[in-house]
Amino acid sequence: MRDDKTDLLSLGPVALRTVVGDFLREQKEPAYRADQLAKWVYGGEARNIPQMTDLPRGLRDALGERFVLIEPEIEQVSRSEDGTSKHLWRLVDGELVESVLIPTRDRLTLCISSQAGCAMGCTFCATGWSGFARHLSAGEIVAQYRASRRWAAAEGQRAISNIVYMGMGEPLSNPAAVMTSLTTLNQGYGVGARRITVSTVGVVPGILKLAQRPEQFRLAVSLHSPDSELRQKLIPLEKRHPLPELIEALRAFNAAGGKRITFEYTMIRDVNDDPALAARLAALAAGLQAFVNLIPFNPIPYRDWQPSTPQRIRSFQKVLQDRGVGTAIREPRGQDIDAACGQLRTRAMGEKALPVVDGDGRRRSD
Ligand code: SAH
Ligand code: SF4
Repeated sequence: MRDDKTDLLSLGPVALRTVVGDFLREQKEPAYRADQLAKWVYGGEARNIPQMTDLPRGLRDALGERFVLIEPEIEQVSRSEDGTSKHLWRLVDGELVESVLIPTRDRLTLCISSQAGCAMGCTFCATGWSGFARHLSAGEIVAQYRASRRWAAAEGQRAISNIVYMGMGEPLSNPAAVMTSLTTLNQGYGVGARRITVSTVGVVPGILKLAQRPEQFRLAVSLHSPDSELRQKLIPLEKRHPLPELIEALRAFNAAGGKRITFEYTMIRDVNDDPALAARLAALAAGLQAFVNLIPFNPIPYRDWQPSTPQRIRSFQKVLQDRGVGTAIREPRGQDIDAACGQLRTRAMGEKALPVVDGDGRRRSD
């Protein structure tokens, strides 16, 4: 059974050395085998233990009794005309998660999932509507990078330069696995901490945990409104961790030094795009030296909301700029392949995932 075996990708780099080191001693194998194994794990070429071909066969068999290296299976790959590609991965228990590769002029960014589904229920988000299935393990998070890296290389694409936790799920609701995966991506695979961004809707305890880390991982906060009442309508978590508490946590994050905060602001027509909100957002952002990304809303099947018009987005941006706040308008990427958060999975799950919605857009439990 796979269940009682240790997943090599779920162990952090230090634990990998210790656990495998102990195992090698038990097996009376030389200690340098641990280096060989780590090379296979972080070099990323072996898809499983039998493929670690410079380890003696007997040792591979013994390792296979105790350990497993699990990569997800490719359920579907979609390619956008703009070069963006999206993987739908099938996990060992059949759950589906997505990751997206986004090439830009000088980068290749990988967007990864941290949960199958999401429990946060944000009203503008397809993943939120699809509900929560389960947390991903550290190994399942790391494996998206490992498998995508190999896939990109085979496609002749450049190396993955940046990783964002902006796929499905709320990473800071799954802190244990996410924290281990951050260490592995940084120390094991050598992706610079400043090239890794964790995106959260505002899970305060998780933000404080991330603040304590010595590495300079970046933090993106999905703000979407500087007004608590409006934010509650978009993000149910606002009730549990309201803006003043969130802002305080972000101050602590800044105070920890050398870290950078970005606000993500999804612009929904006539919902949160009033320039008066931009002025309040500017005050929040300026106080935290945060950069603001303005993202046109990507329509979802569950609400009839539309993206703000380009003109409206530009005037919103001007208010921010006039107040000295750094800001960018993020182009939607991969729209032809539903590359926005959660949409492909929802489609693949079919009608099952469609919730019943009543008049004011709230989900009913039946
Ligand atoms: N749960 C985390 C990370 C995953 S969501 C978070 O919410 O931050 C990644 C980003 O996609 C978030 O900024 C989220 O607000 C945004 N997003 C979700 N649905 C969207 C949609 N329909 N259109 C545009 N952006 C969306
Ligand atoms: Fe979850 Fe983020 Fe979607 Fe909200 S926006 S439902 S937190 S994935």
